[in-house]
Amino acid sequence: NAAAVKGKTFKIATDTTFAPFEFRDSNGQMVGIDMDMLRAIAKDQGFEVEIQSLGFNAALQALSSGQADGVIAGMSITDERKAVYDFSDPYFESGVQMAIAKNNDEIKGYEDLKGKTVVAKTGAEGETFAKKNAKKYGYTVKSVDQSATMYEMVKSGNADAVVDDYPVLAYGITQGNGLKTVTPKVPGGSYGFAVNKGQNADLLAAFNAGLANLKQSGEYDKILAKYLGENG
Ligand code: GLN
Repeated sequence: NAAAVKGKTFKIATDTTFAPFEFRDSNGQMVGIDMDMLRAIAKDQGFEVEIQSLGFNAALQALSSGQADGVIAGMSITDERKAVYDFSDPYFESGVQMAIAKNNDEIKGYEDLKGKTVVAKTGAEGETFAKKNAKKYGYTVKSVDQSATMYEMVKSGNADAVVDDYPVLAYGITQGNGLKTVTPKVPGGSYGFAVNKGQNADLLAAFNAGLANLKQSGEYDKILAKYLGENG
């Protein structure tokens, strides 16, 4: 019952920097597709949100331990996660991709990763993909907590490649983060808003109702266009 959330404040945990989904603008305000969408849904459904920018893995831990009521963090809906979380309706199609330094002409595909280091984010789908293929291609996986750290490591040569979500890599590359992709996108789960399994059904229902309203009113498309351009 969506009316049950009216006037309530929910703590929603998110990643630190995962542009264009969540990042800080020049005023220090958390913005991005997830942030704008969540605030618009909250407004539409009459609840308040307190956003906690913790990092992806920390956000999941905050949810599991009950310190947060929900997570929105470009979080992929996967069967494994569905065992512990309830997800909203999907709101954005995603998946992972590998990226390397722009000036790296040596790595042309996964076969060139033998003996190399691939960095990925702790607890993320990129890490799952990197680990799954490590043996096959003979590389080592290093896990860190933030996308910004991963990109710095690749640029500075402390890692040879990174696996992260492709919409995030594409956005970063457009913004001149010094990376490039040489392998195809690997389609994965769509993004969803998550709550603990069997808990907060009212919040989930309100999220879904708000999302449907935003899609119908055209506001959802406006938010996408704001961050991705008209082709988003
Ligand atoms: N979509 C990926 C996942 O759910 C990464 C999320 C993130 O890094 N914020 O694992």
